[in-house]
Amino acid sequence: MHVPFCRHRCGYCDFSLVAGRDDLVGRYFQALDRELDRVGAGIDQPRPRTRLRPTTLYVGGGTPSHLGAEGLRTLFAILGRRFAVAAGAEVTVEANPADVDVPLVAALVESGVTRVSLGGQSLDATTLRALDRDHTPDDVLRAVGLLRSAGLVVNVDLMVAAPGQSLEAVDRDLGAMAGLGAEHLSVYCLTWEKGTAFESQRRRGWLQPVDEPLERAMFELAIDRLGAAGFEHYEVSNFARPGFRCRHNQAYWDCQPWEAFGPGAARFDGRTRITNHRSPHAWMRLVLERGDAEGDRDAMTAEEAARERLVVGLRRRDGIERAAFKAASGFSLEELAAEAIASWKAAGLAEEEGSRLRLTREGLLLSDSLWAAVLR
Ligand code: SF4
Repeated sequence: MHVPFCRHRCGYCDFSLVAGRDDLVGRYFQALDRELDRVGAGIDQPRPRTRLRPTTLYVGGGTPSHLGAEGLRTLFAILGRRFAVAAGAEVTVEANPADVDVPLVAALVESGVTRVSLGGQSLDATTLRALDRDHTPDDVLRAVGLLRSAGLVVNVDLMVAAPGQSLEAVDRDLGAMAGLGAEHLSVYCLTWEKGTAFESQRRRGWLQPVDEPLERAMFELAIDRLGAAGFEHYEVSNFARPGFRCRHNQAYWDCQPWEAFGPGAARFDGRTRITNHRSPHAWMRLVLERGDAEGDRDAMTAEEAARERLVVGLRRRDGIERAAFKAASGFSLEELAAEAIASWKAAGLAEEEGSRLRLTREGLLLSDSLWAAVLR
């Protein structure tokens, strides 16, 4: 569920959202309610038949917590008319640490939320300013405390390679983040997306990206420091205390079907991916006019779907179990990528472990450059 509202647009962000347009929240709820008419109908059938029983639900954005306690109650009331969330389901909401207060936490708990993902990014005031964030380190500490005392599982996003950031600053951040008490941490390197304020400042020479060897050292430090602190590195960017891997993301990586609603949201039935219009304004107008805002449609062949399964499978630290892969996709790994796999193994980027193929640490660090050999 994509909630496209933020108080302010961070300089590096190219997500589908509007900043400072809270006047559109009512229209967004109307459009979401209308788009949800599709629920239970199947990807190509416009009429609802059943109430969906999702095993995971993810409300992201944008900043869902920007809706406030009452807005979140409204959102979950709309969702509750279409979804009968399964018992024991994982229900995640993304939040800005500055928004987390006692009424908001109460609304999350009442709505059945089990997990909150905080856009913390850093516990260092200088790094947060460099990232153009509108919250403070104290906001993160306070938010984690409030959420955990309400029994919610907490993820915190941590960003490295901020402009001007040193390896020592990342080291301090990792130590502080590991000690926060959060059950899950997601670590990302800053990316410089076209059309963002950061990218235009970079072109003018006002902002300097961290150079590549330093960025790599920062990410390696994250793997070492978080591993030593008891976090399992279970996917390229994700680290969890034992038992707290994100079930929603694991379902994506298992290529299970999912529904998705809101501007820019992409739904998938196992073979076809349909992406909504990215612009929040266009999405609202189209959904309110005709009930859907379908943009791109990507129908994969069985082989293309199997190739995609191979890539998302290898992003996981556990890698791919060969027999399960063949049973799910209809293809063996060798049928799809024998040459690439042989060259990765020869270069020390992949290894066999029993019946599993997995990337080595070096392979994970270089993974984005490996996929061109698999995806055709
Ligand atoms: S809070 Fe998150 S979604 Fe909103 S502008 Fe910043 S990075 Fe983007």
